[in-house]
Amino acid sequence: MNIEQLYRQVIMDHYKYPKNKGLVGDASYLTIHLNNPSCGDEMTVQLMCQEGIIKDVRHQGTGCSICCASASVMTETLKTKPIPDAEKIIHEFYEMIKGYPFNPEVLKGDAVVFQGVAQFPARIKCATLAWKALEQGLTHLKEEETQHG
Ligand code: ZN
Repeated sequence: MNIEQLYRQVIMDHYKYPKNKGLVGDASYLTIHLNNPSCGDEMTVQLMCQEGIIKDVRHQGTGCSICCASASVMTETLKTKPIPDAEKIIHEFYEMIKGYPFNPEVLKGDAVVFQGVAQFPARIKCATLAWKALEQGLTHLKEEETQHG
């Protein structure tokens, strides 16, 4: 099995057996919904932070295998991370998806299996949709914090 086959296998595993899938009816979670009209992907991400740490991330969506698998990987990668670390990881993920060099010390684990997406510009939005949703959630929390001191 070469590395591309291995990556494809990991993506299919996350698609078939997603981690942290399903939404919760808990008011302490922030819910963000995004869609990707170019592919028909719909993604809802729920985020719960406490004392600057991402305590839980959930996702629920319909879409292509890249989009759904990436949501699963995103939750697994960012759950339990302090917010500043999560922001760095998200940045490295975007760099990788765009085909730029990324820091493997920051971006670890299954997230690296999406590096092949850089060769397929039409799929970039699929791979980043859940990550963008989480990023919006973090931005929203920061804005709330500044408003309430
Ligand atoms: Zn898609």
